[in-house]
Amino acid sequence: MPHRKAWPTLDVAIIGGGPAGLVAAVYLARLRRSVAVFDASESRLATIPRTRNYPGFPDGIPGPALLAALREQADRYPIERVAGRVEALERTDLGFRLSCPGSEATARLVLLATGTSDIVPAMPHLAHAVRTGLLRYCPVCDGYEVIDRKVGVVANGPAGMREALYLRHFTSDLTLFMTPDAQALAPAEHERLLQAGIRLAEGAVGSIREWDGHISVRHGNQQTACESLYSALGLKVHSALATSVGARTDESGYVLTDRHQETDAAGLYAAGDVVLGLNQITVAAGTAAIAGAAMHLALSRREQR
Ligand SMILES: Cc1cc2nc3c(=O)[nH]c(=O)nc-3n(C[C@H](O)[C@H](O)[C@H](O)COP(=O)(O)OP(=O)(O)OC[C@H]3O[C@@H](n4cnc5c(N)ncnc54)[C@H](O)[C@@H]3O)c2cc1C
Repeated sequence: MPHRKAWPTLDVAIIGGGPAGLVAAVYLARLRRSVAVFDASESRLATIPRTRNYPGFPDGIPGPALLAALREQADRYPIERVAGRVEALERTDLGFRLSCPGSEATARLVLLATGTSDIVPAMPHLAHAVRTGLLRYCPVCDGYEVIDRKVGVVANGPAGMREALYLRHFTSDLTLFMTPDAQALAPAEHERLLQAGIRLAEGAVGSIREWDGHISVRHGNQQTACESLYSALGLKVHSALATSVGARTDESGYVLTDRHQETDAAGLYAAGDVVLGLNQITVAAGTAAIAGAAMHLALSRREQR
């Protein structure tokens, strides 16, 4: 059997090393708690070409640079950062046991900061399209960057209509493209698009590709070029570890918490994209700060008993 690294029982184990996990780790280390961050290293932050709504950076900051700075900040403290995906979370008498390939840990409390991942449209050179702003996921983040541009939305159901209506605030040149497996829009939804001046592309999406500095969508036997295409195909919320120990989620899969970020499973806290559909770095950091401070108090209360 391969050797598995094991730690003394931690005050807090954090699952996920994006902004939520790293901010919570710094709060907890500064509150003199032993903490380790287990991270599969697939933070959505790493894919942001340049975020312009994160406070303190007047010219914006590339996501990878912000992630590197958050990691560097964590590395100033005795925080163990462990590379790997946590595959199982179980309850023990003292708290929780986590297992990932090559290591195992026990912790009195756990913070789940596992985030979400985007369901991506099928297209070649996807990462390059995201990097250059041809493909986008989040109008709250970057709708400002497409003001008066020629914009498309690709969707597989009514969420696409809602995203297109949201984007109508930024541009009047909008086309909604539906995938071949899309749920058909109701007549009232067609009417709303028509009233807002949003085109519904004829024929299902056949292919999407970068072409001549644009993103080109083939639908039916036509082709439409856009300056940016928003994907409204949805997100996968990484909440399976939470539900495995009895935490509840809402109908979209987001982990339910109280105002201190504690889930229904006592001792398990959650922060960041995994708890809230707003999906913003500041929200990840804010919920992580609340969780970090609350976990420290919960541990202090146990120690004073
Ligand atoms: C293209 C794009 C542009 C964006 N632009 C902006 C913007 O301008 N402004 C803004 O505020 N937000 C923006 N966002 C959203 C922002 O990236 C997220 O809100 C933020 O990264 C959420 O932080 P998080 O820590 O909750 O999750 P993440 O950053 O996704 O981190 C979660 C981490 O948990 C790890 N993980 C998951 N499961 C496990 C497991 N079982 N074991 C171990 N590790 C695990 C993942 O690998 C990942 O490293 C954008 C997102 C995208 C995709």
